[in-house]
Amino acid sequence: MPASINVLFLAAEAEPFVKVGGLADVAGSLPLALRALPYQATHGAALDVRLVLPLHLHSRAESTTMRPVAEFQVYRSGGSIPAQVFETSLNGMPVYFISGHPLSASPSVYSPDPALDREKYAFFSLAVLEMLRHVDWQPDILHANDWHTALALYALRARRGDPVLARVRTLLTLHNLPYMGGEAADALNAYGLMPLNDDALPQWARTFFLPLGLWAADAIVPVSPAYAREILTPDFGCGLESYLNSRRESITGILNGLDVSGWDPAADAAIPAPFSAANLEPRSASKAALQKSLGLPEDPRIPLLAMVGRVDRQKGQDLAFDALRQSASHAWQFVMLGSGDPALENLAANLQADFHDRVRVALRYDAPLGRLIYAGADMFLMPSRYEPCGLAQMIAMRYGCVPVVRATGGLKDTVEEGRTGFLFRKAEPADLAEALERALGVYANPAKWQRYQRNGMSADFSWPRPARQYAMLYHSLTSS
Ligand code: ADP
Repeated sequence: MPASINVLFLAAEAEPFVKVGGLADVAGSLPLALRALPYQATHGAALDVRLVLPLHLHSRAESTTMRPVAEFQVYRSGGSIPAQVFETSLNGMPVYFISGHPLSASPSVYSPDPALDREKYAFFSLAVLEMLRHVDWQPDILHANDWHTALALYALRARRGDPVLARVRTLLTLHNLPYMGGEAADALNAYGLMPLNDDALPQWARTFFLPLGLWAADAIVPVSPAYAREILTPDFGCGLESYLNSRRESITGILNGLDVSGWDPAADAAIPAPFSAANLEPRSASKAALQKSLGLPEDPRIPLLAMVGRVDRQKGQDLAFDALRQSASHAWQFVMLGSGDPALENLAANLQADFHDRVRVALRYDAPLGRLIYAGADMFLMPSRYEPCGLAQMIAMRYGCVPVVRATGGLKDTVEEGRTGFLFRKAEPADLAEALERALGVYANPAKWQRYQRNGMSADFSWPRPARQYAMLYHSLTSS
């Protein structure tokens, strides 16, 4: 049994340094949760988990606390690229930042130009491997996340002859299978990597970032048990279902946890009055503040429905708009916060124009408004077409906002029909409208409604449980 396990956690974004989506929530909290596990949860091994991130142009990393720890060249045909590594600390955890010109070539974490992103993350992935020769700490496990860091695992497989890398085991957490990073053939060529020659993967997938990482990973972790089963089917497998079926033994679904101290209605400075499962009454102040700030009629009794999230076909905003139109004879108000797909944003604006007395859409990223919505709305709609895990429904439950969700992926694993929320099966407006009617029926009975709220608020979505599962996996990887 190893006395200690060193884990290097690779991600494109992490709270509190830089956040675009749910990946940042996970990368900012799982490594810390792993470090905080008691010895019995890690089979007596000390877990030294460290994080490595790209130094994006707008990362909130204070230059005063960052010390340079390494400088090297990353091989690239046509001219090697200088890279620098800085180290800082997050609650005692060492965090490495890698800088280099492909990373500063675009101002955003994910740029609208996919070619820029491919170059950026190929460079980052290769620079991470190179970094391991230049810092005096060696990982036993590389834990990559999504396509952005998948190439590090592929490159590692190719470099097994290197004594520094020979014994490193690998794990890839899969937050979103359809985002495969696109064609990596140019990147492979530029960074001196051989194309994959293995019939196990379909021909097309052999030059895509994410499939290369899946192929190379010793363990694959989809972010919920239900999604782990779904990706083995043609509906969710994105053409990789046969390959993934052949890797079944290496796949373990682990639900993401939530940073429950960061998302706590009893201690949230962004809401007008703290509340808890034991003291729900002050929640009404958030509802009033939300209605007031958006210019909706201030009525405490009218059910206030909400959505917060990326505006994307995945999230099913179009299904929600149609279902709301179908349920127009019921009294409700609706608020939506999010930005993304212009066609869906247009549909949202149309809905607001048609129901100006009861619909408000805020097409932007706005963290404080998001918190006020979770705290003030009554129901949270999440009609996702697919949902690997989903954090928003867990946050909603923690804030007493009862979820109405499609029974898919992590939504199915976290929301309990008849206890904490309402589920529907088909991605059809009529199915959502029917679930909405059931929810509105229960809402009309305040005692019953409060039971749903309290059940959701008391559910345990915190990190220790999933962190233990990751620790077990690390343990089995390093023991085999
Ligand atoms: P995703 O698939 O985007 O990762 P999740 O539900 O897992 O979806 O996580 C989304 C996170 O981002 C949640 O914390 C949610 O509150 C937040 N979020 C998404 N869009 C917005 C927005 N427009 N304004 C504020 N917060 C947002």
